[in-house]
Amino acid sequence: MKKLFSLTILILVVLLSVGLLAGCTGDQQSNADSQENALNDSEPEGNAEKGVVNLYTNRHYDADQQLFDAFTDETGIEVNVVKGGADELIERLATEGQDTEADLLITADAGRLSRAKEQGLLQSIESEVVSNNIPENLRDKDNHWVGLTVRGRVIVYSKDRVNPSELSTYEDLINPKWNGKILVRSSSNIYNQSLLASFIELNGRDAAKEWAKGVSVNMARDPKGNDRAQATAVAAGIGDIAIMNTYYIGNMLNSSNPEEVKVAKSVGVFFPNQDTTGTHINVSGIGLTKHAKNKENAVKLIEFLTGEQAQELFAQANYEYPANSKVEPSDLIKSWGDFKPQSLQLSKLGEYNEEAMKIFNEIGWK
Ligand code: FE
Repeated sequence: MKKLFSLTILILVVLLSVGLLAGCTGDQQSNADSQENALNDSEPEGNAEKGVVNLYTNRHYDADQQLFDAFTDETGIEVNVVKGGADELIERLATEGQDTEADLLITADAGRLSRAKEQGLLQSIESEVVSNNIPENLRDKDNHWVGLTVRGRVIVYSKDRVNPSELSTYEDLINPKWNGKILVRSSSNIYNQSLLASFIELNGRDAAKEWAKGVSVNMARDPKGNDRAQATAVAAGIGDIAIMNTYYIGNMLNSSNPEEVKVAKSVGVFFPNQDTTGTHINVSGIGLTKHAKNKENAVKLIEFLTGEQAQELFAQANYEYPANSKVEPSDLIKSWGDFKPQSLQLSKLGEYNEEAMKIFNEIGWK
């Protein structure tokens, strides 16, 4: 009888222990358990506990993915990326409203980020780390977005036919000496809209309109193709100078296509307006969405991407200038020399975007 009693106790103890263990993996675990499981668990469900951050981007470089992977390694936070055109992604954000999965939006132009802000799709990034990483003029004034990389929109010239001493300012491009010699893409392109927006801010609407009209008169052909196509047309002798972004020259010089390398080698990079208002710059930047569900993780990712380590890779990968001034540009970019950039607040590019498009339409820049 005594033996039977002991056996019953033993069975009860075993059952109780099993029950407790089962309880630990069930729903009723303590907070401490749950945190520890989240940290140790590498199952997808565990990652969901550690967190995710969802990103809409219109950048499409391998370096970006490398950076997201490095962020995941460092923090355990998974980065889910949806790629698309900037306008398409902004429209998607607007349609999805508060149901959107996106926490962050990356576009390659301050004008577009400002547009997203104006549509009420972004919110303030409250982080001292970010504010210390990125200078004020490369951020939205309410910190709804910040720059990640900087690009200059410069004059590229034929080394054979143009002496750089003939070049000076954007304004000089309306001089009759450039008649039939300028190559530039269409006005539907946001880089040109932002360029003209900068002139509206710096020189006023009338001067900006006169400039657009003058350049349009001096064009070598009706606008067509992207920035690279303008450099190709200079090399082919269709025109002598082109307005384009710096990093395309970097990319072409390092292209696997020997034709592109040849084109890039035949042209020089000129930074206009060095004695006046400075060369036009724009950014690739990141905004925090209004309805971000993973806001804390999103801010962590912005802090990471604007930090020195990430900025180095960003700048090396696409031949852009780092937005974080503590980081040096790549050697190739440095070989083009220092330049004075326009000093305007980049959110102005979005503010004057509509006005710029109106001017292009009025003067007939296709
Ligand atoms: Fe581009």
